[in-house]
Amino acid sequence: MTTNTSFLLAIEDLTVSFDGFKAIEGLNFYVEEKELRVVIGPNGAGKTTLLDLICGKTKATEGSIKFKGTELTKLAEHRIVWEGVGRKFQTPSVYEGLSVYENLEVSYPSGKGVFGSLFFKNTPEVDRKIRDTAAEIFLTDFLDRPAGELSHGQKQWLEIGMLLIQDPELMMLDEPVAGMSVREREQTAELLNRISKGRSVIVIEHDMNFVKEIARKVTVMHQGKVLAEGDMEKVQSDPRVIEVYLGH
Ligand code: ADP
Ligand code: MG
Repeated sequence: MTTNTSFLLAIEDLTVSFDGFKAIEGLNFYVEEKELRVVIGPNGAGKTTLLDLICGKTKATEGSIKFKGTELTKLAEHRIVWEGVGRKFQTPSVYEGLSVYENLEVSYPSGKGVFGSLFFKNTPEVDRKIRDTAAEIFLTDFLDRPAGELSHGQKQWLEIGMLLIQDPELMMLDEPVAGMSVREREQTAELLNRISKGRSVIVIEHDMNFVKEIARKVTVMHQGKVLAEGDMEKVQSDPRVIEVYLGH
């Protein structure tokens, strides 16, 4: 297969084997610039493993992951971040003892490597970026609050903000609305629709009501492969999808 370089992300024939068990097997997956892609599928389908492979946390057994034409499978995790890939894990990991402001401040890209962080200065420009980001994630009124005092949903937003402030070209979110209230889910849908205007976003999600709010193109995974792909209507009416996933 030949890689079409017009895609921001082009994954071809990707396989990862854990002691012989193939969690991802011969997967092909393409994401365009400024696309918001939702990935759904039953538990164990390989969704989280796919994100682990893209961000370099897990190394592929076979296949290719090209991001803006650069092969990621051979790169270390921090190099993949530099390339412009940001990833949010399932459980929020914010610095509970630091304020919202400080959490965003420490996430501000301070240059590539140790010299960047040693000589980091909070300039008016950095301050502005922190405040703009806080506004985007609905946390302006919480800037001085310790992150540990935020609701679970607000912590999820803060972690999204900690990625946003690094301005990644591809942002990956694993079940971002888990544990959120109905109102917080609505706000998160709005947030994701907004941030995907400036970058590509891959969202893994289970909550079908939430998926309907944000989905344009949906990829359904099953047993480490792509089972179906298309708009919500198309995948929802696909008999194979109904059988393995939506039917339950
Ligand atoms: P999903 O996120 O779709 O629920 P996962 O990607 O977490 O699924 O897992 C896919 C399959 O791969 C599961 O059967 C899981 O047990 C297995 N798996 C994931 N990571 C590892 C690992 N590091 N070692 C062994 N098996 C793993
Ligand atoms: Mg998962």
